[in-house]
Amino acid sequence: MIVVMAPRATPEEIAAVREKLEKFGFEMHLSQGVERTILGAVGGKRPPETAALEVMAGVEKVVRILQPFKLVSKEFKSEPTVIKVRNLEIGNSRVVVGAGPCVVENRDQLLEVARRVQAAGANLLRGGAFKPRTSPYSFQGLGEEGLKLLAEAREETGLGIVTEVMEPGQVELVAEYTDILQLGARNMQNFNLLKALGAVRKPVLLKRGLSGTIQEWLMAAEYILSGGNYEVILCERGIRTFETATRNTLDLSAVPVAKQLSHLPVMVDPSHGTGDWKLVAPMSKAAVAAGADGILIEVHPRPEEALSDGPQSLTPGRFDNLMDELRSVAAAVGRQI
Ligand code: PEP
Ligand code: MN
Repeated sequence: MIVVMAPRATPEEIAAVREKLEKFGFEMHLSQGVERTILGAVGGKRPPETAALEVMAGVEKVVRILQPFKLVSKEFKSEPTVIKVRNLEIGNSRVVVGAGPCVVENRDQLLEVARRVQAAGANLLRGGAFKPRTSPYSFQGLGEEGLKLLAEAREETGLGIVTEVMEPGQVELVAEYTDILQLGARNMQNFNLLKALGAVRKPVLLKRGLSGTIQEWLMAAEYILSGGNYEVILCERGIRTFETATRNTLDLSAVPVAKQLSHLPVMVDPSHGTGDWKLVAPMSKAAVAAGADGILIEVHPRPEEALSDGPQSLTPGRFDNLMDELRSVAAAVGRQI
């Protein structure tokens, strides 16, 4: 349930409500809006009578959240969440672009991509150091060496870093280097990893699972928020359907649906969503038009030599052209890039 405090509720009144709900076994989360404080009470077994709370000083109203996700919901927090990463804000009118190779292969490759995407106007550098590969014989990533190279690229270009973490035991190490921790599609329901990410104080990019419904995706986000980490960026990256013409089916309707249900920012990954570089530009433009707060694009200097996901990677030149096109689309829907 959520308790909406009156605009002039005092800190003592807020504390009293908090204590009362804690006695009922609830975990309390606070959402400090511009006008009001909202208390989210989650996890308790037997809630007190609504009327018993509504008579408390400073309480405006008590609302039971019907959705299974609570802290993620619009009811808990009506204003959009804006996540700050270095000098960047994700979730405001500026559309954020993350770009880079599927996997960090070596220093030259990474620095070349980083310089090119930065010059083209990207805001974040994405690249995998720990890779979840379908085949055990495929390149698994450089591990910590890859993280060091990403940190070096950030040093040189000023771009924030997004990189994947695959297991709870890696969270501390990856968080030491990266600005945003990516939780991959294959791990969307790895509940131990979700809990570990709830315990860190760094933003998490939460990819939608290959067969994850929007509700399951939001419940995965709820795991992270309920652990106390409120900085989650949702990322639609395509789902499994009967269609085989594309690698996945990029579900762009998930963008407005997630935004109607949640205050969290939503990004789109058209590279994994389509699996084909020729489809990346049209779907990136569609994502921006659909209201995405950012896009994530795979870029490789020589896609034909890429150790992972070459067929869906843009060359730096093609990425440059796409950025120009995206600026017009963003302007047409009242946003900037
Ligand atoms: C990636 O971003 O490189 C990746 C592996 O993505 P996903 O988890 O969406 O497949
Ligand atoms: Mn990839």
